Amino acid sequence: MGEIFDATPPERISKVFLEEKLFKTWYYGRTVLIGDACHKMLPAAGVGAVNAMQDVVVLANCLYSMNSSTQEDITALFQEYYKQRFHRAANEIERSKAMAKMIAGQTWLERVVRHVLLNYLPNWLQQQISTKNFEYRPQIAWLPLVPHRGLGRVLPQEGPRRPRPGFHLPQQSIAQTV
Ligand SMILES: Cc1cc2nc3c(=O)[nH]c(=O)nc-3n(C[C@H](O)[C@H](O)[C@H](O)COP(=O)(O)OP(=O)(O)OC[C@H]3O[C@@H](n4cnc5c(N)ncnc54)[C@H](O)[C@@H]3O)c2cc1C
Repeated sequence: MGEIFDATPPERISKVFLEEKLFKTWYYGRTVLIGDACHKMLPAAGVGAVNAMQDVVVLANCLYSMNSSTQEDITALFQEYYKQRFHRAANEIERSKAMAKMIAGQTWLERVVRHVLLNYLPNWLQQQISTKNFEYRPQIAWLPLVPHRGLGRVLPQEGPRRPRPGFHLPQQSIAQTV
């Protein structure tokens, strides 16, 4: 790392002020935040970009369902976006924090936990944890749902699902919510 630092021109170096941060305010007026701008998480769980993309899908769905471009309707759509996303991002921040401790924690307890989890956690339990972590999969409201080919549960899609005018969702896609 030292060699990389030495080889980096000073003008290309920037300081990261916050390693993680969950902001409570995500919108104001006609401005709305997505991704790290509103919920920056430690990279240990590898889900920061995943959550940014989930924000975008949910925000696009809310925009699609908007009745008019009045400030009232814009605020209502931002509220719906926030309602669907805030608690999930908050959970993911906590999960990332726990993963960071598990991977890199230096207290004796964290070392013991790391040793036990990495050496003795059975595969079936690892799979169950992964399945639980990946059951939330927001999808675009006006496109057919991606066929569910796995074994794990998929949470129902939130918000209305409505095809684009002249574009019909196959019936089984609309029904396929679990
Ligand atoms: C080491 C590391 C490993 C990671 N691994 C994973 C992983 O495996 N999986 C995962 O899902 N996530 C991972 N992440 C997290 C992921 O990189 C971020 O969550 C994701 O990039 C956030 O996307 P974003 O678009 O919100 O923000 P950014 O990717 O930070 O994009 C913001 C953009 O805005 C630009 N910008 C800033 N200020 C201005 C300005 N004033 N004017 C114009 N442009 C501006 C920036 O240059 C940048 O290009 C990792 C992060 C790190 C640090």
